[in-house]
Amino acid sequence: MNFESELKKGNFLISECPQCKKTTWPPSEFCNQCLGNNTWRKSSGMGIIIEFSKKENIYFCVAEIEDSIKIMGEIDSGVPEIGSQICIINCGITNGNYFFKLKLLD
Ligand SMILES: [Zn+2]
Repeated sequence: MNFESELKKGNFLISECPQCKKTTWPPSEFCNQCLGNNTWRKSSGMGIIIEFSKKENIYFCVAEIEDSIKIMGEIDSGVPEIGSQICIINCGITNGNYFFKLKLLD
């Protein structure tokens, strides 16, 4: 399975080692702990905000997905706080960079 082609379709996949149960990020075919083959699964997309900033009325944040993966994303609406719960509502690639659109959960 190709991470980037799935990301472009809006599917955020996680590479995970069946032996160590560790996720590898950035995504990889191989576990960075035991070098075994990772398996792919679709992420729940759930996470929390650990950092954010505001630029031209848009909030950008760093979020930690599934307690392990740090991504940068844009909040679709509302005012984030550190520790706010979010989920990924859209993702893709623009100009060679991954982008994520996040929604605040209440
Ligand atoms: Zn492993």
